[in-house]
Amino acid sequence: MFVPILAYHKVQNQAELGVSNTSPKQFERQIKYLCQNGFKSTSIEDYVKGRSFGDKHVIITFDDAYTSVFENAFPILDKYNFKATIFVITKFVGEYNSWDYHFKKFRITHCDWEQIKELRNKGWEVGSHTVSHPNLKKISSRKLWFEIRYSKEVIENYLNSEVTTISYPFGSYNGETIDVVKSSGYEAACTLGHNYPYNENFPFALFRRGVYCFEPMRVFKLKLSNNSFAHVDDLRQKAFSWISQKGMLLQALKSN
Ligand SMILES: [Zn+2]
Repeated sequence: MFVPILAYHKVQNQAELGVSNTSPKQFERQIKYLCQNGFKSTSIEDYVKGRSFGDKHVIITFDDAYTSVFENAFPILDKYNFKATIFVITKFVGEYNSWDYHFKKFRITHCDWEQIKELRNKGWEVGSHTVSHPNLKKISSRKLWFEIRYSKEVIENYLNSEVTTISYPFGSYNGETIDVVKSSGYEAACTLGHNYPYNENFPFALFRRGVYCFEPMRVFKLKLSNNSFAHVDDLRQKAFSWISQKGMLLQALKSN
């Protein structure tokens, strides 16, 4: 059974030069739609272990663990009785974001450990999004191990519970990435707009659909289905993913 996995980033009103933001108003409209149409949230762990079948399920995920998720998305999800999965970059917990384009006036922050713990206590799933958010295809084997295994250990130490899922920065991975993820004890991994459901690497390259600003409800509804129109939207996502990687590159060049 197809279970849509949605990928969000920031949920805030602040303007920014990027596409990965959703306004709280837009987010609430989407969650309300899910609620009114009989969707129930499930976790990645329950999904890959086959505990989510039989009902209309959706998996809501947040990459990068921005503070705006805690402040804006969490209360909305709670109101409609939904839970989500948040992917934490361990080096950035409680810190300012240093790679996205943003206006200096509105510096963007990442959740601190207390906020992440609160989400965990409210039934959210917490996964790793590596230590420092590199493109995993472009780093040495040694660094790859560090990014994947150490981030898992850090989160487990803070939360005192096992971390079984990871989300690849920029959705980028290869065969070596998957080997390290498996050997490090993860049970599932998420990509972003790179693969169609049920690819040969299941469940270590779970297909997610990003939700972006400027998308009308019509497009959001498409993301919940597995029909061919939805796959057309996936091509657009590949472009967004590419843009976000280039954006990070430009920011890195600027700060050097
Ligand atoms: Zn990310």
